[in-house]
Amino acid sequence: MTTATDAHPFSPCCKDLATALSFPAGRHFFIEDGKLKLLVAKTPLQGGGEAELENAVRYCPFCGKPTEGLFTKALA
Ligand SMILES: [Zn+2]
Repeated sequence: MTTATDAHPFSPCCKDLATALSFPAGRHFFIEDGKLKLLVAKTPLQGGGEAELENAVRYCPFCGKPTEGLFTKALA
């Protein structure tokens, strides 16, 4: 089993965010479509599985820098 979390093609703005992104399990911050997102909650679905509620994070919660554009290079 391999995980993509070992590789970091993006450049977090600060060490705290890098740490938050590096948790292999139970992490709440993740990158999707070049944007930093925060997993807000998981909701069980009637048919099985679960829905993930997420919010885009526009400013780093640790250092306050705008996250827009920080992670778009990861898609190149
Ligand atoms: Zn930061």
